[in-house]
Amino acid sequence: MLGAIAGDVFGSVYEFDPIKTKDFELLNPECFFTDDTVMTIAVADSLMNGLDYVESLQTWAQKYPGAGYGGWFSKWINEVYPEPYNSFGNGSAMRCSSVGWLFDDEITVLKEAEKSAEITHNHPEGIKGAQAVALGVLLGRKGCSKNEIKEKLETYFDYDLSQKLEQIRPEYGFDETCQGSVPEAIIAFLESADFEDAVRNAISLGGDADTQACITGALAEAFYKHIPDEIEDFVYKRLTPEIEAVLEQLRLRTRIDIS
Ligand SMILES: [Mg+2]
Repeated sequence: MLGAIAGDVFGSVYEFDPIKTKDFELLNPECFFTDDTVMTIAVADSLMNGLDYVESLQTWAQKYPGAGYGGWFSKWINEVYPEPYNSFGNGSAMRCSSVGWLFDDEITVLKEAEKSAEITHNHPEGIKGAQAVALGVLLGRKGCSKNEIKEKLETYFDYDLSQKLEQIRPEYGFDETCQGSVPEAIIAFLESADFEDAVRNAISLGGDADTQACITGALAEAFYKHIPDEIEDFVYKRLTPEIEAVLEQLRLRTRIDIS
């Protein structure tokens, strides 16, 4: 899950100032965590500590009110009786990477990803986006090849993952829908050589940089199983103790599960 958070942190400075190159300062001192980190933590906290998704997401979002939430979500955060609003925004996809870490079989991961999405993003594309990311994390950490991951995500979700980044990049711009950003974020992972390269790929698309790098980073961490210490240290320095605590709880859980 650190991979998702690292992607968000590195993409933060390019969300509204897009770039079309992989050649940029990754450890930029201006980087900060955004809503993608807060909501990723909220879903993980909910799963590990038995909290209701609605309660957990509202509580975390209220603690970090200025983290960059979308319009409808900002309203939902403070509703007394919050209802899903048929969203297909990529918020469902960026927040659910812990589902792929905390459950071990495809059916459970798909069901849980749907549950994590449908409290807000109950449009079919919103649910698909979450499922694709959570399943991608599961497949990566289980040792599937990139080809296997690509084929499965194409088959299950009807995503076209055949394009190359250099074909997508020239015409691509900010798109915060699941269907317009999740496939591209998956391709950024598929075309990468390692974790850092994956995050650079995602940001270089010049789209919704923090959210796409969050999704790409989640997939890359699960697949490569290695995030350089320098990156880890940089990201940790930008988190708050309560965010760090949830991250550590998940690390411990997944370490135990692996051994
Ligand atoms: Mg954001």
